[in-house]
Amino acid sequence: MLYIITIVILLFILFISLKSKKKKTIIPLEKVEVPKHWHQLLLKNVLFYKKLNDDEQELFRAKMVSFLKETNIEAVHFELEELDTLLIAASAVIPVFRFPNWKYTNLSTVLIYPDYFDDDLQFDSQVEGRTIGGLVGTGRFEKQMILSRKALHLGFSNKTDKGNTAIHEFIHLLDKADGVVDGIPSVLLNKQYIIPWLQLVHKEMEAINNNASDIRSYGGTSEIEFLAVAGEYFFERPKLFQRKHPELYKMLALCFSK
Ligand SMILES: [Zn+2]
Repeated sequence: MLYIITIVILLFILFISLKSKKKKTIIPLEKVEVPKHWHQLLLKNVLFYKKLNDDEQELFRAKMVSFLKETNIEAVHFELEELDTLLIAASAVIPVFRFPNWKYTNLSTVLIYPDYFDDDLQFDSQVEGRTIGGLVGTGRFEKQMILSRKALHLGFSNKTDKGNTAIHEFIHLLDKADGVVDGIPSVLLNKQYIIPWLQLVHKEMEAINNNASDIRSYGGTSEIEFLAVAGEYFFERPKLFQRKHPELYKMLALCFSK
């Protein structure tokens, strides 16, 4: 009898240890606590998340928590809601989701303004000409990102456009991670790909400026904006982007899938 009990106990211990091992391979991050209701909120609001499988969704949530632990989110002149915070964290995770470990070391705070703003960072909606939806700060705003709450929500509410302001700004931060914002994602792209990348970029910028591309015209203004605008499109409408721009798709897939 004792013999049987011992075997049962040993099997039980083996079962538990195998189970916990399996768990570890799913979440390589430190054990993080994720509020249960996030899953539904993300399914409803973040298409990128919805398309992931169960394990990837779990990893995505863990990465969001890890981002929020290291970043201040501050609302200016309005009360921050949970969905605001969630969308910011999702925008931060999407471009770096395929990287095993990534920290935005060049970011400490995301400031959320209630509305679009102008070059002087004024956001009074009564005045026209306030069209900026987001920016990566420099000077006294170094390590800060400013986002318009309206632009943040619009980026996720329209599921058929090719744009997303917050993802755009996080791609600028990735570009900046090598010290310079130049539209050449040196941290993302191995050296041998940089010249082919620039050749592709210049060809497509020319097409944009000749009205012969479906990439948003803002991408034609500089290499820097091209990377961010094409990146938005890549994450928002991957299949369409792959069909319309197979070479650029291949290159961006190389960038964002380390
Ligand atoms: Zn930009």
